[in-house]
This record gives sequence, structure tokens and C-alpha cells, in this order.
Amino acid sequence: FPTYLIPLLITTTLLISTVSKTKGWKTMLPPIDESISQNLRDDIETIQLASKDYGNMMQEFPAAVFHPSSINDIARLIKLSYNSSVPFTIAARGQGHSISGQAMARDGVVVDMASFRKQRNGVGIIVHEDPFIGYYADVGGEQLWIDVLHKTLEHGVAPVSWTDYLYLTLGGTLSNAGISGTTFRYGPQISNVQEMDVITGKGDLVTCSSQENSELFHAVLGGLGQFGVIARARIVLEPAPKRVKWVRLLYSDFSDFTKDQERLISMNNGIRTKHIALDYLEGMLLMHQGPINNWRSSFFPLSEHPRIASLITKHNIIYCLEVAKYYDDQSQKNVNKGIQDLLQGLGYIPEFYYEKNVTFVEFLNRVRSGELKLQSQGLWDVPHPWLNMFIPRSQIMDFNSGVFNDIILKRNITNGPVLVYPMHRSKWDDRMSASIPDEDIFYTIGFLHSSGFHNWKEFDDQNRDILQFCSDAGIKVKQYFPHYNTQEDWANHFGIKWRSFVERKYQFDPRMTLSPGQKIFENNQ
Ligand code: FAD
Repeated sequence: FPTYLIPLLITTTLLISTVSKTKGWKTMLPPIDESISQNLRDDIETIQLASKDYGNMMQEFPAAVFHPSSINDIARLIKLSYNSSVPFTIAARGQGHSISGQAMARDGVVVDMASFRKQRNGVGIIVHEDPFIGYYADVGGEQLWIDVLHKTLEHGVAPVSWTDYLYLTLGGTLSNAGISGTTFRYGPQISNVQEMDVITGKGDLVTCSSQENSELFHAVLGGLGQFGVIARARIVLEPAPKRVKWVRLLYSDFSDFTKDQERLISMNNGIRTKHIALDYLEGMLLMHQGPINNWRSSFFPLSEHPRIASLITKHNIIYCLEVAKYYDDQSQKNVNKGIQDLLQGLGYIPEFYYEKNVTFVEFLNRVRSGELKLQSQGLWDVPHPWLNMFIPRSQIMDFNSGVFNDIILKRNITNGPVLVYPMHRSKWDDRMSASIPDEDIFYTIGFLHSSGFHNWKEFDDQNRDILQFCSDAGIKVKQYFPHYNTQEDWANHFGIKWRSFVERKYQFDPRMTLSPGQKIFENNQ
């Protein structure tokens, strides 16, 4: 019996005893008419699924899980709670790929968007062509980005802003921001939404955009599920390329690495033409504790591993710049020349240049093969003590000395990908709820740890040390996928947006029922 399954066995046993002790939704929720109650489930397997997430570090048991057959079903459920003398909490659960229980609802109802997606069986994504504004897609909030990709490609078009991993729901990423190496150029996914249908905390289905019901529109985007359930979003599409030239360059010096990253992302802003500018830019740390290739992408040829390993031995940390340029068959020559021009004068170590040519789908879906491999080894559903944050450009060197060169090297436990890449504030819309640093350029840093069931607290402690260091050093960090324990921390997180965040909550979800797992409002804590 594999030892890594023992904690799972213990958790399952505890779960069975806990669930059997709960009274069931009939005693916990107000009287519910049959049209809703027939879609409520409280069997052990369903409750178990909704009580966990990708983080695998905590559990909250809902009273029931709702499997809606239509948008109206979700609206009726929310209205029932809103009109009840004792409202119950409701959380839409996309893929449950949150880390700290954000899609959970203790003693409330979890709306299983995945089961809704299955019910809709492919009808949740509709591509339109408008002679004046071009292509756009109307996509259900329960849909996966991978399905959006495949469906839009049938029309030769695709969204422009992506996450690295595509098995996430539209509702889930739009509640955060949706970022990746495409953000510097196209903005986060929330900047590429034209219109939405949202079911508010009062159970009303409202169409909103930046012109119509704009307060709701801006509240929901990056709104951590607090203001409504996203039923549909209209997404910007552009002609899709066929292929991608994908390049990685290694640096031994952090300052050269970040200087080049900033230079490359700024080439979009009029200095070079669209044809030459990059479509994607990220960066990551390579250290001895982590494998040279990881689940996020297997890129470096095996034959190169010893050379890269000795470079790491020499410098402790190596910085890997990752860029991509889209092209079509006829523009292959131009892309090679364009990349050459772009990389001229950069400070990478010349003998450490790597490139690949892949299809557009292979590139966008690059994380999937790593996921399947980990799943087959039973290593996907392990704890994930992740820390994601935004750091202002002016403080990235302080962050490097205090965190990468001190905390990370001393603790010597970091084993997952560590992402580092910059983006432009101007590509974000400040009217939206998402909270970002107040500087033109800021970096996203992602510590994407996987751990055992017995040692995730070590990583959690390291995350706490990092945040403490930032606080002591005056680094104005904003967490991405934020997780806080007090309302004071939430107020600090949102800064000048906090007041309007609270006002919008009273306006759209006055009984404070939606997405309680974010633990923002007092009665949810
Ligand atoms: P859930 O975790 O189910 O939900 C997240 C929050 O959104 C909850 O509060 C929930 O109540 C709310 N919510 C869900 N659906 C709706 C809806 N329809 N309407 C309103 N609220 C809703 N993020 C990035 O930005 N870039 C990345 O590259 C990236 N890569 C990732 C890779 C992996 C392997 C994983 C596990 C996550 C990654 N993420 C990334 C994080 C991801 O964006 C978040 O976890 C996000 O929450 C989406 O996950 P989900 O669809 O499972 O949503």
C-alpha cells in the first residue's frame, strides 16, 4: 500500500465520521420547494468533493451541494436564501482550483458549476461574428478555458489573454483576474470581457457592461465571487495564429534578467511594430531543490540537464526568461528574424539559449501533460501551499535580496516552480475590484509549491516569513488569490478600493451570502 495514500485514508475516515454526524440540509436550510430540493445532494462523495480544493490543506463541509439544470435554478436558489429569515451562504465552485477554501461554504450550499457544465453538454460557448466589431464569444461562467480554445479555433479565432493552465473555469479566473505571460500585452482576462450576465446576491439576473449596470460589471471582475455568480461573459476574440516560437534564455544575474524583461514588455508600447513585439513573456527561478523541468512545462532537452545543473551549482539560483512569438506558416522567416532582433543586446548567457517550435494549442495547453503525469503518479492531489503576489517594480531588487537570496536559499525547501514576470498597470482597469500595486510596472511572483501531507506547514511558514519580510521592509505587496484572516488585512489589501468594495457588497449581496470561503466579511469569519 503506497505510504503517500495514508493521509488520504485518514482524511477520508475522518470525513465519513464528520459527514455522518451532520444533520443534513433539511434541518440546516429553510424550507425548500421541490423544484430546488430535487437538485440538492448531500451524499458523502458529493459533500467530500465540495469540502476540498486544490490546496488540499483545509476542509469545510457544506450542508448540501446544488446541481443546477439552468441559470434560473441558480437564481432561484440565491433568491430563496435572500428572502429567507435565516439566509444560508452560497458558493459557486468552478473547478475548486483555489488554495485556501475560497470556493467552499461551511454549512451552506456549494453550487457545482462542473455538473452544470456537463448538463449543458457543449452549448455553453457560442462564437459570433459581427461585421463591425469582429468576432466575440458568449461563454457560460461554468465553462473551461480549454473548451473555449477548441471551440473558438473552429472559427479560426481565439481569446487573447490566457492563464498558464486551461482547466479552470471562466467564472473562477474572472473572479480573480486571469494572468499569464500574455498579460503584459493584452491585459488580464478581466480586461478582455465586454459584457456579462450576473446573478446578484438578491437572485436577480442582470446584464452588465462598462456602459450598462457598470457598477456591477466592475465589481464582479476581480471581485472574488462577492457580488454575484457569473452566468455568461462575452469575451474578445482575435484571429488565431497557427504556430508559436518558444524561447528560453538563462541568466545568472537577477538585475540583468529583470532589466531585459522590462525592456521586452515595453517594446509593445510603440517602440516596435506589432509584428515584432512578443506575444508572451514570463520568467522563473531554477534552483537545485526543484527539477530542471517541472510540471508546468517540460522544455529543456535531457542532454542539457547536466550543463544547466552545473550552472545552478555555480550560482545557486539561475533565472530563466521565457518568451514566445506567434506566427503562421508563411511568416516563419519573419518570426526568426523578429526574435533575433528582439534578443540582440540582451544579457543572457549566450551558450544557454533554447528554442522550440510548437502549435498554438500545444503552447497554450503546455501544462496539461505535466498534470496528467503527476495524476498518474498520485502526485497531483497533494497539498499546494502556494503564495502568489504582485510586487512594485521599484522594490523588486529588495525582494530579490530579502526573499530569493535569503529566505529561499536559507530554508532550502522550495521545490516547485517559482515564477517572476512583469506586467503593465495600464492594461488593467482600475474601476474593477482586482487590487494591484500602484506603479506603472509591477511583477507577479508565484511560489507554486507541492508538498507532502505531513510537511505543508513548513512551506506555509516560509510563505508567512516572506510576507513578514515584505511588511518589515515596506515592500508594498498585493497578494494574488488573496487569503487573509482579519477584515483589517482585507481593508489593507484593497486600500483605497476597500470602501467601494464594501458599498458594492451591500448593494449587490446585502445579506452577505455569496462566496463565504473568501472570508472577507465579518459574519463569514
Ligand atoms: P474556484 O476555485 O472553483 O473558485 C474561485 C472563486 O471564484 C471562489 O470564490 C468561487 O466562489 C468563485 N467562483 C467560481 N465560479 C464563479 C462564477 N461563475 N461566478 C462567480 N464566482 C465564481 N490563475 C491565473 O490567473 N493564472 C494562471 O496561470 C493560473 N494557473 C493555475 C494553475 C493551476 C494548476 C491551478 C490549480 C490554478 C491556477 N490558477 C491560475 C489559479 C486559478 O485562476 C484560480 O484557482 C481560480 O480560482 C480558478 O479556479 P476555478 O475555476 O477552479 O475556481
